[in-house]
Amino acid sequence: MSTAGFNSQNGTGTGQTYTNGPSQNPVALQQPSGVGYSVNHQPAYNQMQAKVLAPPGPALYPSGPYQPVPPGPQVGSYPPAPAQPLLPRPQIGILPSHTPPQSASPSPGPRPAQATPPAQATPPPPAVTSTSYYTGPPAWQYAAPRGPAPNHVNPAAAAPPLMSHSSTQPPGPGAPPTSIHGFTQPGDVAGNGPQAPNSYNHVDNRMAGAAPPGRHLGHYPSLPPGYQNTSAPPPSSLHPALQAATQPYTQGPQPYQQQPGGPGPGPGPGAGPAQLSPSMAAMSLQSSTPEALRVVNLLQERNLLPPAPVPAPTPCLTQDLQKLNCSPEVFRCTLTSIPQTQSVLNKAKLPLGLLLHPFKDLSQLPVVTSSTIVRCRSCRTYINPFVSFLDQRRWKCNLCYRVNDVPEEFMYNPVSRSYGEPHKRPEVQNATIEFIAPSEYMLRPPQPAVYLFVLDVSHNAVETGYLSVFCQSLLDNISALPGDSRTKVGFITFDSTIHFYNLQEGLSQPQMLIVSDIEDIFLPTPDSLLVNLNECKELVQDLLKSLPNLFEKTMETQSALGSALQAAFKLLSPTGGRMSVFQTQLPNLGVGALQSREDPNQRASAKDVQHLSPATDFYKKLALDCSGQQVAVDLFLLSAQYCDLATLGCISRYSAGSVYYYPSYHHQHNPAQVERFQRDLKRYLTRKIGFEAVMRIRCTKGLSIHTFHGNFFVRSTDLLSLPNVNPDAGFAVQMSIEENLDDMQVVSFQAALLYTSSKGERRIRVHTMCLPVVSSLSDVFAGADVQAITGLLACMAVDRSVTSSLSDARDAMTNAAIDSLSSYRQSALTIQQPGLLAPACLRLFPLYILALLKQKAFRTGTSTRLDERVFAMYQLKYQPLAFAMLMIHPALYRLDDLSDEGALNIGEQTIPQPRVLQLSVEKLSREGAFLLDAGLVMYLWIGRNCHQNFLSQVLGVSSYAAVPEKLYLLPELDTAESQRTRAFVSWLRDQRPFFPSLHIIRDESQLKPHFLQNMIEDRTESALSYYEFLLHLQQQISK
Ligand SMILES: [Zn+2]
Repeated sequence: MSTAGFNSQNGTGTGQTYTNGPSQNPVALQQPSGVGYSVNHQPAYNQMQAKVLAPPGPALYPSGPYQPVPPGPQVGSYPPAPAQPLLPRPQIGILPSHTPPQSASPSPGPRPAQATPPAQATPPPPAVTSTSYYTGPPAWQYAAPRGPAPNHVNPAAAAPPLMSHSSTQPPGPGAPPTSIHGFTQPGDVAGNGPQAPNSYNHVDNRMAGAAPPGRHLGHYPSLPPGYQNTSAPPPSSLHPALQAATQPYTQGPQPYQQQPGGPGPGPGPGAGPAQLSPSMAAMSLQSSTPEALRVVNLLQERNLLPPAPVPAPTPCLTQDLQKLNCSPEVFRCTLTSIPQTQSVLNKAKLPLGLLLHPFKDLSQLPVVTSSTIVRCRSCRTYINPFVSFLDQRRWKCNLCYRVNDVPEEFMYNPVSRSYGEPHKRPEVQNATIEFIAPSEYMLRPPQPAVYLFVLDVSHNAVETGYLSVFCQSLLDNISALPGDSRTKVGFITFDSTIHFYNLQEGLSQPQMLIVSDIEDIFLPTPDSLLVNLNECKELVQDLLKSLPNLFEKTMETQSALGSALQAAFKLLSPTGGRMSVFQTQLPNLGVGALQSREDPNQRASAKDVQHLSPATDFYKKLALDCSGQQVAVDLFLLSAQYCDLATLGCISRYSAGSVYYYPSYHHQHNPAQVERFQRDLKRYLTRKIGFEAVMRIRCTKGLSIHTFHGNFFVRSTDLLSLPNVNPDAGFAVQMSIEENLDDMQVVSFQAALLYTSSKGERRIRVHTMCLPVVSSLSDVFAGADVQAITGLLACMAVDRSVTSSLSDARDAMTNAAIDSLSSYRQSALTIQQPGLLAPACLRLFPLYILALLKQKAFRTGTSTRLDERVFAMYQLKYQPLAFAMLMIHPALYRLDDLSDEGALNIGEQTIPQPRVLQLSVEKLSREGAFLLDAGLVMYLWIGRNCHQNFLSQVLGVSSYAAVPEKLYLLPELDTAESQRTRAFVSWLRDQRPFFPSLHIIRDESQLKPHFLQNMIEDRTESALSYYEFLLHLQQQISK
């Protein structure tokens, strides 16, 4: 990497001063002179090509899904190893983005209100059998439906994607704007077909340079624009690794204490050039091998895990830039050094993509109120820390290089209360910032917070006892629901009929209205079913108190979920809002009825798993209708039986909702699930929420975004429709390099999330990340972020499992490890040596791949319920990376010898920090007690000869035999050992937005196999040990 010039341009220290002249912003140096934004730039998106079947044997990361793939390497170039379950090499392809769904996904059906045909009459999507990359639509994406769909009045949704470059189309990275785009006026938009009044896709886009007529410029604002920092909880409550991640502005290296016995002295295996100071990193890149590229022979080095959670690598940027960069908790790239060309990327055989957690709860968030939100006139990028100022009055966009004027108002800095320092404005000092949007960003008044609860009250539901927990939770938290004086709520219950509740002010008690015609659902009293929460709070409370009793004796076993959803959709359509659905069984009546597809005898099969894709598109269609009306559907599934989550989950996936799953939920038999449900509900009801949201991700010209992962609807090429956005949702996107980045030293990525807050404010949260561009393969490897790579591969593998087959997905993951290590050996390694070699930064890659193969989502040969598998797949796509990684590679700690050495001190509490252990029974000891943290669930395993001290001081029992069979709580004992243990477990729980249940198990517990399944490094009947897996990789690489 040619970092010399790059680094030498930067001032030292942080206080880079602005001079009125050629820019001193290092970013400015990257751009080719006189680059305009080419309007002839080839759109990345080609509908027709996406359908082209690839010739056999595409490379693992082809140059982009939109180009016909040239005849590539042989599919069989890595023949299967004898006795290995690995087949010839289908690959995880980069699935075509926005692939027209027509082949497998018929356009949304008629309005539910118009006698929708029963689900049985709807042909299921054709099965995809080919192993090519380019078959069928990506399962997790539903692109614009073709043809007129009554509920899709959005022009973007109604038009085929090829039309997306018309002048109405919001510009984006994949769709370079022309100057026409920049000045699209509301009238232009309206002229292009019917526009849903609540669609904001073009509004996000209309802003920028063109000031609204009559706006007053050219003087100081009478009052400085508001600028506030939200109050911050002490950052010290986080794990040191997370803490470092949340504080991107403190550059300090994160020295990584290598444990005794670990590899050599010096910086540990995690301390790549990224962890060094930039100048040192640059030096090391040039003069000697940086730590990230230290060659590790995986067959020899066993202690690869760092003692604490693996930190995100820091991009190899100058200190000035890195100080300003976005937190890796919010925005992360699989390669922290971007390859200059697609051909270098292809050689690295690593996936290129972004992982985002855009609405994360932040301890610090600068909020700016300003009548002028400064954006690039050409590409609509929000001004950010990585733009360059040519002089006081002009700034150059870091995404398209257009030179823009600095508006007068921007000359005033509300923080320093000074004039003439536009580069010191908060927008240019913070990579994450939120704007309170002026009225240009609204097409209608921001919607109120509207919450509709749809509750299963069949016999099965009442049996589980969930209803009283739900009602009590809502009663407890009703005043904490996010909202304002306009907040509305409503309730629907259902079994074989649909029940509405009239809660109109003035009634003495709630009035139940039963609609038994479920085939043609209608709203009995449309105006009094969604009511103002403040005005009708007492009636709502009365209803919540009486609901559990109302259905106590029901014998109704049928479930007309589909009709209930249609009714709920009708009720929410006029305003938009959030629909929370609680379901406890397979819907078996009316529209959307399903039949069981799971064969319990096949749960442990080593063969392919069937029925990962939906049985009917009823739920997907309804979700798209919901999305069009700004309604998101969250699904709570509480059931002991198969519910076909693969089908039901579509209702949330495409409407940007969340899925919660509580297998074997029962109020008496499963107290751990009950506690989890209670805690999750509390978080769910009270967490922040954004309504009628859209998110757009832009990147520097030359890069192109495709294939999105998460829950949303892709409204146009790069615009995600999010009827609701919540702080716990993660997203991922794949990228390709469309044009060489020859002249650039850095590139930038910007995610902008426009939403309506629960208080009715239109807000825009903007995150910008800057990364260096490198030309050599070694530098690409040196910047590899192994966790982000694993997270993205997991998303790709989920898609692959659904569109092709589980075995394809499994093979493709294995091949991802083989290919990248093979490429490293052949092209990046200068001195050949025996062994299975990996650069230090990728040393955990094979372990993570093996962990994925053993993860519930992808494992074979181990009994796995279909719904649990599908839920795991959902979670891998939806969870922000930190939590997805816990699901993939759980953390194991020894708890019986906790000490205060190295502990965190938070307030009055001391939180011990035991080291993370390898996931192998080798690390367990009968004398000990070990906590396994797998994200959603924790196991505390007590060894047979566990120290008496731990048993009595922590568990409060006299002997091992006295540990109860079902124990879910650590007793609150007044001992130092108890306090330490509880402090550690609570601290782990507090760092995630969901509540993991804790199972305390003895060695002979029924749950022991669940605990042991997480010992990823060990051999099982159906899967290789880590060492065997390494041998397999080596064998394949040396072929
Ligand atoms: Zn621009």
